[in-house]
Amino acid sequence: MVDVTDDGIVLDRSAFYPGGGGQPPDHGVLLWGGVQTRIVGARKTGDDLHLIPADGDPMPAAGAAVRGALDDERRTALMRTHSGLHLLAGVVFRDYGALVTGGNMEPLEARMDFNLPEVPEGFKETVAAACAAEVAADRRIDVKVLPYDEAFAIPDIIRTATNLLPPGLKEVRIVDIVGLDAQADGGTHVASTRQIGGIEVVKVEIKGKGFRRLRIRLPQ
Ligand SMILES: [Zn+2]
Repeated sequence: MVDVTDDGIVLDRSAFYPGGGGQPPDHGVLLWGGVQTRIVGARKTGDDLHLIPADGDPMPAAGAAVRGALDDERRTALMRTHSGLHLLAGVVFRDYGALVTGGNMEPLEARMDFNLPEVPEGFKETVAAACAAEVAADRRIDVKVLPYDEAFAIPDIIRTATNLLPPGLKEVRIVDIVGLDAQADGGTHVASTRQIGGIEVVKVEIKGKGFRRLRIRLPQ
């Protein structure tokens, strides 16, 4: 069942990830009446998820039944990349005590900024080796929803320098790389660290006084 608005196409239920927590939205297609509408983005407006059609594609009529299919290659790449950023954040916090101040990801490419005034000699290689070890360790990545108080009883559950959670939240979704890093998070992830497939630390940049930006890349 669909509604069609200026903001996009609204479905009553859908597996499209709307984007958020630094993870870009899914792409895919809607299939209806023997034709397809390519979906090139999504955004959440209030409770509604608006799917953004490709320019010029045919549009279903309001009330039509449609079937959705995700661009699985893109989604899988984003799940791996997102999980890779968690692993990186976990390693840098564990080994250097640094918090995350920002980040961005595209499929198989990402950057993350850390509150890290000094970096020791060989930092890039040491972080890369630690990431490789954590991928090889094949740690489980669990997702659970906990009551707010229980979630905040977990030490360092907010890995960002600023708590970005909306106030008044009753439950918190936790993404737990078991034994390495638990964080409050809304994105999509792979089921274990080996599924990330590897993390190449491409570059360490100085990003203003006291901050470092790490750029990573994942294999195809
Ligand atoms: Zn996440």
